[in-house]
Amino acid sequence: MVSIEDYAPIVGKGEVESIKELAKHVEGAKVLHVNATKFGGGVAEILSRVVPLARSVGLNAEWEVIQGDRDFFWVTKKIHNALQGDETVSLDNDKIRIYLEANRRNAFIIPNDAEVVVIHDPQPLPLIENRRSGKWVWRCHIDTSNPNMGVWSRLRDYIRMYDAAIFSLEKYIPKDLAGMKVLIDYPTIDPLAAKNMPLTPTEIQKVLERYDIDPERPIVGQVARFDPWKNPTGVVDVYRKVKKNVEGLQLLMIGSFAHDDAEGEEWYNKTVKYSGGDKDIHILTNLDGVMDKEVNAFQRSFNAALQLSIREGFGLTVAEALWKGVPVVGTKAGGITLQVIDGVTGYLVNSIEDAAERVKLLLRRPWLARELGYAGRQHVKLNFLITKGLKNYLRMHIDLVGK
Ligand code: UDP
Repeated sequence: MVSIEDYAPIVGKGEVESIKELAKHVEGAKVLHVNATKFGGGVAEILSRVVPLARSVGLNAEWEVIQGDRDFFWVTKKIHNALQGDETVSLDNDKIRIYLEANRRNAFIIPNDAEVVVIHDPQPLPLIENRRSGKWVWRCHIDTSNPNMGVWSRLRDYIRMYDAAIFSLEKYIPKDLAGMKVLIDYPTIDPLAAKNMPLTPTEIQKVLERYDIDPERPIVGQVARFDPWKNPTGVVDVYRKVKKNVEGLQLLMIGSFAHDDAEGEEWYNKTVKYSGGDKDIHILTNLDGVMDKEVNAFQRSFNAALQLSIREGFGLTVAEALWKGVPVVGTKAGGITLQVIDGVTGYLVNSIEDAAERVKLLLRRPWLARELGYAGRQHVKLNFLITKGLKNYLRMHIDLVGK
């Protein structure tokens, strides 16, 4: 069982004490989190760690997942894409009906006595129609800085029914939520999770050998769902450019299939096709047995991590790589810019060419990669660890229902 005391060696006793102090104000508060998947993607990752930790400091926190069929998750992925700016999506009445009816069928998961209900992302957003009690918060994890207005306007009235909305970056707050309580909260990673805890060199090597990856040759990689916004074909392009100068380079593309991501299979197939059978490109998923420990080992094996997203709400994978002392070459998309400080914790890039040049630089200069990686770990330690996330979480609960 997780205990807040376990974090003292990493963040200090003082930080742990201040968390315990804050928690006293909301002791026993009944909190329910609702999202659309138990597995895959950043929200499931966050909830799987935050909910047990919140319980360990005295909140009565629970996590429920809404159920839906293929049509529902197809519609909700379109809504996700539209909120990130895809102008080709439109929501006709049929799609809206699928969206609302599935939510109405899920209404039973909300207990009568929850004091705080936190709804994550657009999939369960309309559950607010069935509110019976408590304070309701909508936690948006995606980049809504430039949404498709046709779709946004159909969701806005639901959002406005909430007591508060939380976004990952200030620039994601849509202008037409004026008058609503809006908070900013950076997602965080758990240094004690199987995905982030220390591994021995032997453990890392065993994982590499299991997947036929040569530990003696350079490795770059991106960990991300197979999704157009993560730009998997761009990752292959960068690898091809770098490979012209770096013989023996290997590319790892690690992606899980989230249960609520209707496009995963299509984009996995596209990526495999695009890689053209290159034996040094390893495309691996949870279906190949890649779970938290394997992701951890792969990230630790990277000479440089890539995060070439076109849009990125936050990008936990960036914090995960930096925490492991691996510099990140990332695009100037959303949350990546909070984590990659150009020339300090990695490099921010504008193009495939730019990314390839930066990766080459890091491969030629291992000392530079080490310095940036070290700074990256410090940056995460100060700003993006779960203890900090828990403090913000407790403050929000104190604000809503504190004693
Ligand atoms: N992840 C994983 N296995 C994979 C790919 C991703 O466990 O094969 C995890 C990754 O380590 C991170 C989360 O899924 O914890 C992805 O979160 P992020 O915020 O980067 O992106 P999202 O999927 O939420 O858009």
